[in-house]
Amino acid sequence: MNSMSWKNLLRPNVVQMTPYSSARHEFTGAASVYLDANENPFNNEWNRYPDPDAYALKLELARIKNIDPSQLFLGNGSDEAIDLLYRAFCTPGEDRVIICPPTYGMYEVSAQLNNIQITRISLTPESFQPDVTTILQSASEAKILWLCSPNNPTGNCISQALLLELCQSFQGLIVVDEAYAEFSNGKSAVSLLPYYEKLIVLQTLSKAWGMAGLRLGMAIGHPELIAVLHKIKPPYNINTLTQSVATRILKDTGKMQEQVGVILHEKEQLSEALATIPMVLKVWPSDANFLLVQFQDADAVFQFLLEQGIVVRNRSKVPMIPNSLRITIGTPAENMELIRALQTFSQGGTA
Ligand SMILES: *Cc1c(COP(=O)(O)O)cnc(C)c1O
Repeated sequence: MNSMSWKNLLRPNVVQMTPYSSARHEFTGAASVYLDANENPFNNEWNRYPDPDAYALKLELARIKNIDPSQLFLGNGSDEAIDLLYRAFCTPGEDRVIICPPTYGMYEVSAQLNNIQITRISLTPESFQPDVTTILQSASEAKILWLCSPNNPTGNCISQALLLELCQSFQGLIVVDEAYAEFSNGKSAVSLLPYYEKLIVLQTLSKAWGMAGLRLGMAIGHPELIAVLHKIKPPYNINTLTQSVATRILKDTGKMQEQVGVILHEKEQLSEALATIPMVLKVWPSDANFLLVQFQDADAVFQFLLEQGIVVRNRSKVPMIPNSLRITIGTPAENMELIRALQTFSQGGTA
């Protein structure tokens, strides 16, 4: 293992900077009178600043994920973690990262915002796996390799063998975005963290946990690397409401698992039903809570569904997955409505 070499990847100004020290950091403990943060003293439940470390929430998540709280960074959605990884490791106008399309759009948007160069190395056709040979050949000096497993929008997991090969040979950071981990039987890359210090796993409460509106994403990694993200984050990035509601909802793992069970069952049903519709050319296998479906004319289907009040994600212009729609698994009733609409359309009807 090339231990600790991730420290050489940090931006020099990030290494040197002094972080902001908030009032709530300088005094921890409990007091009866708080006159340190210029808050309004009259209690309305929200007048105090949140815990900058979101410690109670972190403890709950660490318990669920079977990791130490020091391995956990919490962000205002995973999107904040993506942005902070760029800011910690990539110098604008100088550094470069590798993205493997077709994949989640934020890696690229955030790179552009931060003025970071992008090398795109497509996933392999059909199996949608990272092209390890090409990645390693063109990897020189790339700071971050972005991987997504299960991948959005293709729905498949990255092979563990390929990930291991990359962990052993890629010299930059490897970020594995596991936003859909709870829907998959695949092994989480969290189990590889003790062996690879340059590996970072992203997870979120936005999908299986049903808390997209609260905005809570996380980066899991080596405690020292996670400490760098804490150093540069906005001090109060996780608001009080999110901290308290998420901590409460996370206590009911059973409910989440039950809902995931329903969604997975519905996914199988929907996949079978779609396969019987003549204009459906292909339903890709999925380890997530959505199906990528190829149609004869995806734009026409998309338009027809919109007219029926059903919104899906049109991915028909995305290279490698022509004429495809990404369809999130809904409730049993919603999925039924979708199938009815598609049957009507394929029979040439106007419903
Ligand atoms: C939905 C999704 C996320 C979630 O982002 P949040 O900011 O945590 O809501 C992250 N990565 C991928 C690949 C996703 O599809």
